[in-house]
Amino acid sequence: MVVGEALMTGEIFVPAVVANVRAIDPGEVSVVEIALPSEYEIEGVKYPIRDRMSPGTAFLAKPYGVRKKKPQRRMYTRSNCALHSEGVIETVINHTREMKSDTSIWWQSEEARGLPKSRGTIDLLVGFNQNRTELVLYENSVRCETNNLLLEPEWPSMEFVALAFSTGITPFLSYLCYMKSSNFGCSDHHPGVRFSLIASARTPAQLIKHEELLELSRMFPFNFKYYPVLTREWPDSWPYTKGRITRVKGIRNGEEVVDIQPLLDVVPHIRNVHLRMCGGGSALEQLRLGLRQSGQTPLSFRSEVW
Ligand SMILES: Cc1cc2nc3c(=O)[nH]c(=O)nc-3n(C[C@H](O)[C@H](O)[C@H](O)COP(=O)(O)OP(=O)(O)OC[C@H]3O[C@@H](n4cnc5c(N)ncnc54)[C@H](O)[C@@H]3O)c2cc1C
Repeated sequence: MVVGEALMTGEIFVPAVVANVRAIDPGEVSVVEIALPSEYEIEGVKYPIRDRMSPGTAFLAKPYGVRKKKPQRRMYTRSNCALHSEGVIETVINHTREMKSDTSIWWQSEEARGLPKSRGTIDLLVGFNQNRTELVLYENSVRCETNNLLLEPEWPSMEFVALAFSTGITPFLSYLCYMKSSNFGCSDHHPGVRFSLIASARTPAQLIKHEELLELSRMFPFNFKYYPVLTREWPDSWPYTKGRITRVKGIRNGEEVVDIQPLLDVVPHIRNVHLRMCGGGSALEQLRLGLRQSGQTPLSFRSEVW
């Protein structure tokens, strides 16, 4: 069946075991781990499957769509990295709570949570390498563009500020996994990357990998800083930003007026950093407006929006 599919569409989907589905906020956000098979047979030939995904890219899977009642093609950004966990792909998936939600409902269901126990699988897209000797896991970006978050090769000498909304933290978790595995780019001659992560979530339960990120910032205080932001609920003692990191103050001449002071309080030197953002389209629009209206232009700006 898959051979036919490969020949007809040029696409090859391989069944990968869903190794773990861990709800971090039950019904809302889950961390998912998917294990690639080591090989796959096409027309009687077994091909090894390689995982060479770069930090900041997404893979393509076929989760079940609850509304459409059949598997759907969906992209997910990897949250770990091939350097550290080759062949085991981690991502974080939320229930979007949108009218159109389809697969994101299924990921929070009992059926999806039961997949690891039953060794259930999900199809992932792979493709042949140039010599057709092996299959390689598909990744959505192959070169750095302003509208993707593939990590640039010069990262060890750069200073980044990454702004993540909800599961928009995934590409930056992948960066951090990769950077940590590469000792944050430190060498005898160079102190390495400077990376600040501002992660915005509605409630404490929806802060993704919060404790791990706090620990990482304690272990690498020069290279990594972590600023969790809570927008809807926070404990009385919350020492970080409370409320949105960019705020719409009103409308002037038909355009929203956006206050980015909470962001500038965290990063006063925004003009001297490479700004990265991942989240929804309206958050991106507000950030762009706020930067323009306050006359702030970072060294570079790249974003990915879902
Ligand atoms: C490159 C890329 C990387 C992605 N990485 C992730 C990821 O790591 N984790 C993840 O949960 N999703 C990710 N997505 C979104 C994912 O592919 C699905 O669109 C999402 O899970 C919703 O699926 P759905 O079938 O329920 O609804 P869809 O029909 O896909 O989308 C329904 C609506 O929800 C909005 N939406 C999409 N994603 C989200 C979200 N995460 N939060 C709130 N609203 C959303 C869409 O804009 C759309 O209006 C990514 C998408 C792309 C294109």
